[in-house]
Amino acid sequence: MGKFEDERKAMVELLRKRGIKDENVLRAMEKVPRHLFVPEAFIHYAYEDSALPIGFYQTISQPYTVALMTEALEVKPGDKILEVGTGSGYQAAILAEMGAKVFTIERFEELLKTALETLSKLGYNVIGMVGDGSIGWSEFAPYDGIIVTAAAPKIPKSLVNQLKVNGHLVIPIGDLEVQELYIIKKIDEHKLDIKKKFGFKFVPLIGKEGWSEEKSKNNGR
Ligand code: SAM
Repeated sequence: MGKFEDERKAMVELLRKRGIKDENVLRAMEKVPRHLFVPEAFIHYAYEDSALPIGFYQTISQPYTVALMTEALEVKPGDKILEVGTGSGYQAAILAEMGAKVFTIERFEELLKTALETLSKLGYNVIGMVGDGSIGWSEFAPYDGIIVTAAAPKIPKSLVNQLKVNGHLVIPIGDLEVQELYIIKKIDEHKLDIKKKFGFKFVPLIGKEGWSEEKSKNNGR
């Protein structure tokens, strides 16, 4: 039996109990070794349903949040997905395990480097770049889905433009204290269907179509 396999199964059971239904998401989360995406010091907390620090004041998102956001994306094998906020690389691994072609952008070079190393060791072919993901990654657009793992003050127009019709953009929107998770479906070039879920807390999306670094330090003022 592989390392932490029982813990991973228990985590997935909890996700089921909390309402995650997409079997493809649950299967991926049962397979990907989350403990390899957290710093050594937190390895024994890797399968608890909580966010954990990964350095640079950033976090690996809570498993429930990863599952919920991934489910909302409605990923199909072969889909081209843009992730904004690579962090540890765990979310990218879940998407790759589900058969998506993943493009991911991270502000911090060191985080991206470590994440891509971990992903490559596990055999996931994810394409990453250091940069401001609030303006997307036009080179590979349009995308079947876009997932933003940091909170923005409003919906970034560039990301909507880089999304295919019928694709989903999943992004936390709000102030710096609390956000709603927006599940946005692009109906056509001019129409969006937006569903919202309450009560999330993400680190800020810092960039041209996110928060300015200064405002994020002054709590939005
Ligand atoms: N998806 C990550 C994982 O699985 O570990 C969780 C990421 S963490 C909650 C959010 C990440 O977004 C941080 O690593 C942060 O540096 C990054 N970030 C914030 N603003 C960004 C931007 N404009 N472009 C790219 N990355 C950004």
